[in-house]
Amino acid sequence: MRHCTIPIFVPHLGCPCQCSFCNQKTITGVRPMTPIDAHRQIEAHLATIPRDTAVEIAFFGGSFTAIPRDEMVALLQVASPYIKSGRVASVRISTRPDAIDGDVLSLLASHGVKTIELGIQSTSDRVLYACRRGHTAEDCRRAAELIVSRGFTLGGQMMIGLPYSTLADEIKTARAIVAMGAKEARIYPTVVFSGTPLSEETASGDYMPLTVEEAVDRTVAPMEILLNADIKLLRIGLCENESLHAPGQVIGGAYHPALGELCYSSLYRKRMNTEISKLTLSEQSNLKISVAPGKLSMAIGQKRCNYTAIRDEFALASLKIVEDPALAGFAVRADLLSQEKGS
Ligand code: SF4
Repeated sequence: MRHCTIPIFVPHLGCPCQCSFCNQKTITGVRPMTPIDAHRQIEAHLATIPRDTAVEIAFFGGSFTAIPRDEMVALLQVASPYIKSGRVASVRISTRPDAIDGDVLSLLASHGVKTIELGIQSTSDRVLYACRRGHTAEDCRRAAELIVSRGFTLGGQMMIGLPYSTLADEIKTARAIVAMGAKEARIYPTVVFSGTPLSEETASGDYMPLTVEEAVDRTVAPMEILLNADIKLLRIGLCENESLHAPGQVIGGAYHPALGELCYSSLYRKRMNTEISKLTLSEQSNLKISVAPGKLSMAIGQKRCNYTAIRDEFALASLKIVEDPALAGFAVRADLLSQEKGS
C-alpha cells in the first residue's frame, strides 16, 4: 500500500521560548495555522490522494503538546473525523521533550496519534543551553522513555553544527537516539536565518557556522549510527520552500537545496572505500561496485565525484558502479573483475 503524509505546519505554535537557531516562519514558509485552515488543507490534499493510500496527517513546525490544551485539541479534532471514517490512518506530531507527560500522551492516543517526533537537537547540556532550548538532555531521555513505553513510534530530530557542538557531541546524540528506542530520525545541519539570535551571534563572531562541505562531513558519522541501527532516516536538511529563497533569509550555514543527496553521496564514498579496502587490488584493477536499485546517482555522486575519486585514488583500470536488485538500503558490494572494461 502507498503511504502519504499531509503536512500541516503550525509555525512556533506552543513554543515557550525562541531557540537561537529557529525561524519556523522561514523554514516552513507558512503563516499561523487555525483549525479552519488545517481542515481546508487536509481536504485539498485528500482530493489528490488515491483511495488505496495509507494517509497520515502530520502537525509540524511548532511545539505541538505545548500548545494551550483547548487549541491543541481543536487541531486534533480536525483530524478525528478522517480517522473515524478510515480515510486517514494516523496522526503524527512533533514537539519538545519538556512538553511530554502521561496526560498529554493519553490525549494524543485518543485522537489517533501514532508517531511522535521529538526535537532532541543535542544530548549535550552545554549545547542545549547555548541554543536557549530551555530543557536538558535528561528531559529528552525522560520524554523518549515515556513515549516508547506508551506504544507510540518515536522519531528523533537532531542537529549538526550548533553552537559549541562537536562531532563527538553529534555522535553521542545519534547513539542516544538509538538507545531511546527511536524508529525514525531527521538530521538538520544548522542553517543561520535572518532575525534569529544565532544570526546576531554569527554577525558578532561568537558563532562560526559550518560550511556546506563541513556540514556534509560532520553528518556522515551520525547517519551511519542511525542507519546501522535500522532507524529510518526521514530527512537530512531542510525541506525546500519559497521563503528559503527569499533574499536575505538565509545568511549562513549548511543551506543547500540538495543537502541530503550530498550527505548520502558522502556516505556512499565512505562505504565504497571500506569495501574496496577489503579487496587485494593489483595495479590497474578492474572493479565493479554494486548498490541497491534507485541509489545509483547518490553512489556516483554529483558531477560523478565519487566515481572519479575512487577510480583515481585506487588507480583503477576500469570502474563500474551498477545497481543490484539483491542489495537493499545503502548496502555496497565491491567485486574485482577479470579483464572487463568499466564505464
Ligand atoms: S526549535 Fe522547536 S521549540 Fe524551538 S523555537 Fe523552533 S519550533 Fe519552537
